[in-house]
Amino acid sequence: MLLKSPPGTTQDIFVDEASPQFEPDLFIRSPIRGPVHLMRTQRDIVARGDLMATLELECSRCLEPFATQVEIHFEEVYRPSLDVATGAPLKPPDDDALRISEQQVLDLKETVRQYLLTMVPIQPVCQPDCRGLCPNCGAALDTDPCQCDAESRDGPFAALKALFEDGANRRTP
Ligand SMILES: [Zn+2]
Ligand SMILES: [Zn+2]
Repeated sequence: MLLKSPPGTTQDIFVDEASPQFEPDLFIRSPIRGPVHLMRTQRDIVARGDLMATLELECSRCLEPFATQVEIHFEEVYRPSLDVATGAPLKPPDDDALRISEQQVLDLKETVRQYLLTMVPIQPVCQPDCRGLCPNCGAALDTDPCQCDAESRDGPFAALKALFEDGANRRTP
């Protein structure tokens, strides 16, 4: 195994995680897939990955769910928490290297989760010209057009106009 190998040893793995569980932070529609290149260095394991996944996002305008494909590219340093030769616990890293657990599991999942989270836009939109919801009746204007547009064209004067019409009617003999 890589941890027991001399520095410079590399290992290529292919991630194909069919049903990653990142909910409720992230909803993944497709497997997370891609190559990860691992390299044993003097003290650590460096993992470099290029993964793809399809995220399900909610449009900030029309509130409909939509899918978007994202790519993440990461390079992270993982430090063993046990001395590989002796099994003795190592003192926690003084830098921001990630830990490899005492079970010698290099947990890419948390790395992937964090990188995917950075791919989520603050205000996702299903398409650049999504017209969102009607502010009047709440209908999704792209899929479910409503009649509010025509009415609201009269705007604040609608009531006034009705008044005039009333007045006009009254004068009619
Ligand atoms: Zn939308
Ligand atoms: Zn409407």
